[in-house]
Amino acid sequence: MIVMKFGGSSVGTPDKIKRCINIVENQIDRKPVIVVSAHGKTTDNLIESAKKALTGTVETENIRHYHQGLAEGLGIERVLIDPLMCDLENLLRGISLIKELTPRTLDHVMSFGERISSLIFAAAMTNKGIWAIPVNSYDIGLLTDSGFGSATPLNGIEEEINKNIANLSGVPVITGFIAKDKKGNITTLGRSGSDFTASLIGAAVHAEEIQIWKDVDGVMTADPSVCSNAQNIPVMSFSEASELSYYGAEVLHPSTLVPAMKNKIPVKVANTLKPEEAGTMILADSQLVNRIAKSIVYKEDLCLINIISQKFNSTARLLSSALEILNQQDIGIHIAATSESSVSFVTNRSYPEEVLCRVSTNLEQIGAVSIEKEKALICVVGEELKGNSKVLGDIFTAVGKAEIKARMVSQSASEINIAFLVDNSQITDIVMHLHAILIGR
Ligand code: ASP
Ligand code: MG
Repeated sequence: MIVMKFGGSSVGTPDKIKRCINIVENQIDRKPVIVVSAHGKTTDNLIESAKKALTGTVETENIRHYHQGLAEGLGIERVLIDPLMCDLENLLRGISLIKELTPRTLDHVMSFGERISSLIFAAAMTNKGIWAIPVNSYDIGLLTDSGFGSATPLNGIEEEINKNIANLSGVPVITGFIAKDKKGNITTLGRSGSDFTASLIGAAVHAEEIQIWKDVDGVMTADPSVCSNAQNIPVMSFSEASELSYYGAEVLHPSTLVPAMKNKIPVKVANTLKPEEAGTMILADSQLVNRIAKSIVYKEDLCLINIISQKFNSTARLLSSALEILNQQDIGIHIAATSESSVSFVTNRSYPEEVLCRVSTNLEQIGAVSIEKEKALICVVGEELKGNSKVLGDIFTAVGKAEIKARMVSQSASEINIAFLVDNSQITDIVMHLHAILIGR
């Protein structure tokens, strides 16, 4: 059995849906279980319509029209979506009357996207002669806590899901992203949560593979928009994928991979527009390639906060006082560096001016503070880095060639990444030089 998940953009037009169905058909012998996201930008549109309802306007015309267009383009009766559209309209009317939109209600509104999507996708498959059935994930046992907006699946639901899927006849087309809590309220797994659904379902049915189909390339050796030599990475480990995603690469969200990783199920990321290409296979065990590293990623628009202080008799005290202040202001950090009388932090994102002012004022009580903005973290990732004593030399050669200053150089305990700080404006230069030296053509 395999799980095949199709993202919103991949099922955004009738032609794209037909492509996805061809991809399913080509692998029909592998007993596919399908997971779908809402079509195109439907989730955003649903959120928009809920907010409008809150101000008194109930508007579903664009959502209805878009889905009717999809149905028509696929030769499906438009009326198929009428009952769900009618429910959605009633719900929005309720919101407009009581002028209240709780996270619970918003999850209910958003759920219509995936529910309609599984209806249309299954009908389109059946039309093409592949017997398929739309399935709401919660009807086969996908239960979560009541953390509306970003709910956590309950422990031990796999067996029930497996049993229910085994009892279905036809190819199941399951709603991604949505679930229910024990009381029967609809919940969601957080934006882009359909990948997580695919991973959960894959673990439940002991799938031989989980395929995540997008309409962009799999994981690349660098951002192709800054490095024209970037290539697809054919295989990588779960740990590498997590590091890449942490440092800003558009890979699967790490928590998405947990159920697959625990069960050692390979996850393939592939492009619906180039189905014949291999995509990227993410495997549990480490995957060494004959290169110095696998990928170079960057995270831009960060801040560097420096504090110099003679007030403390140990660096640990200075560090903990500074961290306490950052925590109070909810400032997340990526890396820290210390010396006898100074500490520096790289924040996890760019914070608004007023937040930085507040932080700065509070930190000034313990020392002299400077904040530098428009910084970027460059991160080299790969299992190949482990135990390679020459790699720092290679990285500094690239830094030298790019004629820039690298600061805050750090390597995590896992040894599969090395990160350092540059200016936003230096990203392209340094990524190109690193790519040439560490990865090549
Ligand atoms: N439709 C949901 C979203 O747009 C879930 C997903 O696409 O994975 O966030
Ligand atoms: Mg989506």
